[in-house]
Parts: sequence; structure tokens; C-alpha cells
Amino acid sequence: MDNVIRIFDTTLRDGEQSPGCSMNIDEKLAMARQLEKLGVDVIEAGFPIASPGDFESVKRVAETVRGCEIAGLARCEPEDVDAAGEAVRGAANPRIHVFIATSDLHMRFKLRKSADEVLRDAVRSVEQARRYTQNVEFSAEDATRSDPEFLFRVFQAVIEAGAKVINVPDTVGYTVPSDYARLITSIRERVPNLGDTIISVHCHNDLGLGVANSLAAIQAGARQVECTVNGIGERAGNTSLEEVVMALRTRRDAFGVDTRIVTEEIYPSSRLLSSITGVSVQPNKAVVGANAFAHEAGIHQDGVLKNVMTYEIMTPQSIGRSSNELVLGKHSGRHAFRERLHALGFDLQPDQLDNAFQKFKVLADKKKVIYNEDLEVLVADAVLRMEDKFKLLSVNVSSGTGAVPAATVEMAIEDRVVKEAGFGDGPVDAVFRVIGSITQCKAQLVRYQVNAITGGTDAQGEVSVTLSEDGLTAIGQGAHTDIIVASAKAYLNAINKLEWRRSQNVGRRTDEKGP
Ligand SMILES: [Zn+2]
Repeated sequence: MDNVIRIFDTTLRDGEQSPGCSMNIDEKLAMARQLEKLGVDVIEAGFPIASPGDFESVKRVAETVRGCEIAGLARCEPEDVDAAGEAVRGAANPRIHVFIATSDLHMRFKLRKSADEVLRDAVRSVEQARRYTQNVEFSAEDATRSDPEFLFRVFQAVIEAGAKVINVPDTVGYTVPSDYARLITSIRERVPNLGDTIISVHCHNDLGLGVANSLAAIQAGARQVECTVNGIGERAGNTSLEEVVMALRTRRDAFGVDTRIVTEEIYPSSRLLSSITGVSVQPNKAVVGANAFAHEAGIHQDGVLKNVMTYEIMTPQSIGRSSNELVLGKHSGRHAFRERLHALGFDLQPDQLDNAFQKFKVLADKKKVIYNEDLEVLVADAVLRMEDKFKLLSVNVSSGTGAVPAATVEMAIEDRVVKEAGFGDGPVDAVFRVIGSITQCKAQLVRYQVNAITGGTDAQGEVSVTLSEDGLTAIGQGAHTDIIVASAKAYLNAINKLEWRRSQNVGRRTDEKGP
């Protein structure tokens, strides 16, 4: 057994399924390119049978990203395997990931199939997938609550049929490290034809044990970890990529294995995902949280000042966190701008760079110094929102003591320009009412939050708006030096995302979530 742990990133599949984390195709492509720079071994780009939008985004990622294996997820159903096979066909190294539940509970109540039928479907699907690629992974959904004897039989049969990777998901986040390690060990002992088949783990974080369980499995011989950036995913999320990778790197003495991850790309990946989805990480989150490094959190204990290693077991530089230095101002040129974006992990296409540079010039006129955080929101704003149905052209408000707050909003809806005015309880309320009337949005406003992106009274305000309608949730973000404008942008961004999600649900074929 070798000492390399493969990182199978499922941010774009399992992660994207979590509420508010949906991404459109351009956003998925931007994230996939960043994952390639991060050096993940496999990108699970989506679940092609789920909807036409899912199929298209897997196909685009497969055709665009050449440096990683690209996986598509499929149930053990003939039409699923064909959809996944077609979607990843254009990849440099395509992988088909088939799954079926093996626990009594799931087989009886979800699948309504006998154990023998499940075994038969598993083998048939692996054989079918092999007609598209030799690179086939099989997952036994809910493995940790399955009868181990049955699990060994299924794994033996799918390896016989040609699976190269067998995944042992803790689908419901139920296992604990000692049990999980014992299960991995028993698979190695009891599956006679295991050979060099890679054992993979996929953990959910319902008890906060996703990373601990994954590490225990590695010590027992697992060689692939399925995980997501920032640990996003169903319910309490998946194993967090940055935590597993930095645990293995920092404690190589304890584990004796390592990944191929370029750790300096961890922080840019985390920031990019947050700016795309609008879901920020908690301040005390390990590795990527705002307070994760002692001296950045302003905790200048005597020890830290004398030697940072007294309180820090890894450096911020090792995960690509640059300090909040002054980076650019209004006299900075296009070249400096592009170099700085590159250092932050953004590689833009020429037209995107033009768009972002124009927005940078506008911002630099309003604000003396531009920080990295400003650039991140500016790029997210300029690059990742190009196919919006509703665009904000202008917004004006009047408010103050003794006046009824009023707003006038001008918007483009596809090719049409619409202008309306109205009143509200406050300036933000007035703007939202007018936008709601123009867009005929019926969604409920669940959350409204304002943050200053950096320090100083000229800081940009970053507004986050969560909308909910018919069981769909969308988080919109907007940034501007004027928080009323930022609010309008965030509200429209959320409406656009809801529109997009609704369009994705048209033709949706399954609510199945995967392993
Ligand atoms: Zn999962």
C-alpha cells in the first residue's frame, strides 16, 4: 500500500446540494478551475441524471479541467450510468461513480429491494460503467449501518466486475473513529480479491466527527478521502478538505502519509467558495476561519510576539493566507491588478478581466485603498454573475428624520428597461419593495445581514440576503461603499439565484441525494 492519500473533492456535488449553496455553470467552472490549482485528485462535478442543468455542468467541467479526474455520480440504474458516462466522456480522465444502499433500513424502505437484487444491480452497473471507462468507483451507501458480511460480499462482487475504488460512506454521520477504523480493517481482511483496489471514505459531520472518522480510516488503510471545501454539504456537512489535508501535513509524524494538495491554494479556494455561494465560514472554523491563526486574530500574547510557533502549529502562509496589506489604489494599472488577482487565486478570462478592471477603477475612485477582500468581492461580482435575468441599473433613495423613505429603481430585465418608485418603512425596505414589485418576487426574506468588508469608514458594505420560496433557498450577496446599493444588489442577486434554481428544477428526475 502506498503513502499517498487521494483527495476526492465533492464540493460541486454533495456540497452543492446543501441549502443556499447551489451554483450556476459559470460558478461551477470557476470553482473547478480553482480545485485543479489546489491539486485535488478527483473532482466530482455533479449527478448528471438529476437534471439537464446538472448534466450540462458536469460535461462542461469535464471538457474544461484537464488536470484532475472528473467524476459523475450515478445510481445503479441503467439510464443513470449512461447519463454519467455521456457527461464525463470528454474528460482527460473520466470516472463514473455508481452507488446503491446496502443497509437493511435503506434497502427495505427506500429501494424496496432484496439484498440479492441490490447485489445484482451493483454488479450490472459497474459492468455497464466499464463500457465507458476503466475508472469506476462503487459506493455502498449507508455502509456504516450495513450488515458487514453483506458489505464484504458486495465489495467482492463489484471488484470482480471491475471497480477500481470501493467507497465506504458514513452517509448519516453515525459512526465513531474506533468503529470506522475497525470496519476498514475488516474490509481489508475479509474481501479476498481486494488486491490494489483503493478503499475510499466519505463521512458526514452530524456528530462533528467527519474529519476524525476520515483520519481513523486512513490509519486503518483507506487511501482516498471524499471531502468538500469549507466542509459544506448535506445537513451538518461533509468532511472538510482543509482540515484533513492540514492534519496529515502538520502531523506527518503521526500518519506517515500525505496528499498531493498545494496547501497554499487552500485559503483562496475557501474564499472563492464563500464568495460564490454567499455562505461564509464561522470565525472559529479550523484552518480557514477568521480567528484560526493567533496573530491574525489580534491575540498578540507575549509568546506569539517572540516566536509564532509558541501558539501556532502551522503558518498562515502555508495555506495561502496573505496579511491584510494595502494592495492597490486608483493609480494601479491593469498589469498590477491582474498580478494581484492571480496571487489571490483568480485566473480570469480576458473579457472577465476587462469587466473586473472597470469595476476596480470605479471602486478606486470612491475608496482610497483597495484590500484583498475588496478584490475578492469585486471579482465575484464582476465575473460570476454574467447570466442574470435581472440587472440593477440605478437606485436612488431619500430618507432621514421627518421624511417618508422613498426609492426609485431602474432595472434591465433581459432587454427591457423598467423604472419604478415607491415608499417603505426605511430606505432598505423601500428599495426591496420596489425591486419586489418590478421582479414580481413572492419569496420570503429569511435573513438580512450587513458586514463591513474591511476597516475604515470608507469600507465597502457587504450585504447578504437569504430568500426562500417553495422549499428553495437562495443567498444573495452585494458589496458597495453605499450599503443601500449593496442591499439592492444582494436582494437582486438572491432573486436571480432563485430564478436560476427554479429553472434547474424543471425536468428534475430525482430527489435522490447520493452517498
Ligand atoms: Zn454524502
